[in-house]
Amino acid sequence: MAEFAPPEHVADDCIFCKIIARELPAFVLDEDEHTLSFMDINPGTRGHALVIPRNHSQDLIAIEPADLQATILSAQRLAARMKDRLQCDGVNLLNCCGADAWQTVFHTHIHVIPRYKDDPERDPLRLPWIPKPGDMADIEAAAQELTA
Ligand code: 5GP
Ligand code: ZN
Repeated sequence: MAEFAPPEHVADDCIFCKIIARELPAFVLDEDEHTLSFMDINPGTRGHALVIPRNHSQDLIAIEPADLQATILSAQRLAARMKDRLQCDGVNLLNCCGADAWQTVFHTHIHVIPRYKDDPERDPLRLPWIPKPGDMADIEAAAQELTA
């Protein structure tokens, strides 16, 4: 694989920075000037992978826009490859921002999770909530809080 310049931002105690530096092993799938894609070692489904920016940032809020753009484009590229090579039926992208939102590794990353219809062996995932209609007044109130 091609050599790329070392990242500008590195955190000493970050396992994903160490994967980028090849100080820790990983099954690398793809890389470019700004990102690296590799297999998740606790896969939710067969082929579950992660895309990370080379530059360290803690999370979705902190990441520089150019790094975020490169990361989402790499995730798109990987999702297309999953459909082609793994013949998955769909793909979920997941980002956890903050410990209370399930983030456990504090180097921004996007999970790229191939999905397989009616195949609990390769795909045991189920929605973590039961969708049901919300309270319209509260939806509107939240919308007002979120409106610029
Ligand atoms: P988060 O919980 O922060 O959204 O996702 C972190 C992901 O990193 C988890 O799915 C976890 O399985 C994965 N992970 C944690 N440590 C390692 C590691 O050393 N190597 C790889 N390849 N994945 C890791
Ligand atoms: Zn890092």
